[in-house]
Amino acid sequence: MKEVFDYIDSNKDRALEALKTLVRQPSVSAKGEGLRECAELVRRMLEDLGASPKLLEAGEGINPVVVGEIKSKSNPKRTILFYNHYDVQPPEPLELWESPPFEPTVKDGKLFGRGAADDKAELVGRLKLTEAFLETCKDVPCNFKFLFEGEEEIGSIHLKDYRKKYPNAFSADSVIWEFGGIDAKERPEVTLGVKGILYVELTAKNANRDAHSSLAAFVENPAWRLVWALNSLKKGEKILIPGWYDDVRPFSKNEIELIKKWPYPEREVKKELGIKQFIGGMKGLEVKKAYVGKPTCTICGLDSGYKGPGSKTVLPKEARAKIDFRLVPDQDPNDLEKKLRAHLRKKGFSDISITYSEGERAARTSPDAPIARAAMKAASIVYERKPVVLVSSAGTGPMYLFDSPCVAIGGGYSENRAHAPNENTRIDLFVKGMKWVAETVNTFTELQK
Ligand SMILES: [Zn+2]
Repeated sequence: MKEVFDYIDSNKDRALEALKTLVRQPSVSAKGEGLRECAELVRRMLEDLGASPKLLEAGEGINPVVVGEIKSKSNPKRTILFYNHYDVQPPEPLELWESPPFEPTVKDGKLFGRGAADDKAELVGRLKLTEAFLETCKDVPCNFKFLFEGEEEIGSIHLKDYRKKYPNAFSADSVIWEFGGIDAKERPEVTLGVKGILYVELTAKNANRDAHSSLAAFVENPAWRLVWALNSLKKGEKILIPGWYDDVRPFSKNEIELIKKWPYPEREVKKELGIKQFIGGMKGLEVKKAYVGKPTCTICGLDSGYKGPGSKTVLPKEARAKIDFRLVPDQDPNDLEKKLRAHLRKKGFSDISITYSEGERAARTSPDAPIARAAMKAASIVYERKPVVLVSSAGTGPMYLFDSPCVAIGGGYSENRAHAPNENTRIDLFVKGMKWVAETVNTFTELQK
């Protein structure tokens, strides 16, 4: 691996130039801006690598998925897949950027720009570490597959369709996920999963217009209907929908051990949020177990009636609530949506309509999987310190669409301002991240020889 690392070091400026090229190309999926152009750029980069790229399509107006593949001569029986995305978040608010979002700018050892971290740095890093293997070893440690989507920042809304149409593009022995890096204390962090999600909107309607509130004496108020319906969903921290927890997979012994060891910066989080305590005063292991494995029901938005200054005596015609349920393995969002509908019906709220907006299953890789062990071992080699292992991120991603074990590792850090103004990548970590992923792939194949 020394030659591979040396190559990565001595070609880091070229890697940075490739990253700048990608950052210069806006690819804002929320606004449909520059996606084709960016996909084409990525396709050309894969072509330069000799990875026989293709643009997969799933219908008009849907951003293409760019795939590529490099076969290994020495180890053609194993395949690693790199999942990344070439789309980015909108750059707004523009006035808070210190340099223009689509003009990559180097300052204080960092590259600034929209997508400089999430996820163009990781995407380019994977191409460049592949180049390092090909230039030094004239081979890759196992087959490499690349799958780069263009709708991650809008919830990977069509990745399911791609999976159905091109199942082969998703198959591999193991997957390396799109994000990862070091934690706030500069420890490499290996993440083994993500939570799932069910996102719905509830709407209560009654009269065909807002009415004078004096009529509240006999005209039903949809805001109250909605509040009562919401009240039936949860008591304290328990979700009351029958069968909600039926499929929750308990933690394994190994997972519990890892959760115990995982350092969660409780005090810093409370300080940053300006809160004195967590729900019910929970702390320590309880908080960490909740972070990793607690199904949640969150009212994300509530809307009804008059919200302006002063008072307005009005009886609103409708009320809406947006709700997200974070899910854990092996909960199924489709099944849970049915359970939610049945529950509201049974409680007498059949008048409240439910609009389904998003559903993704959770995914979690066993810490014993070869790719997980390889990522941990590689972290110790590249960073010369033991990694921390996060059994599952509390966020959500389309990891479940890949049936194989998956780890999230890379060159990110906690101050990279992903999704925010002044997004940046630390150039030293960009390089280290490449080495970490390269070493992981190498160790992954070694472990299975
Ligand atoms: Zn993102």
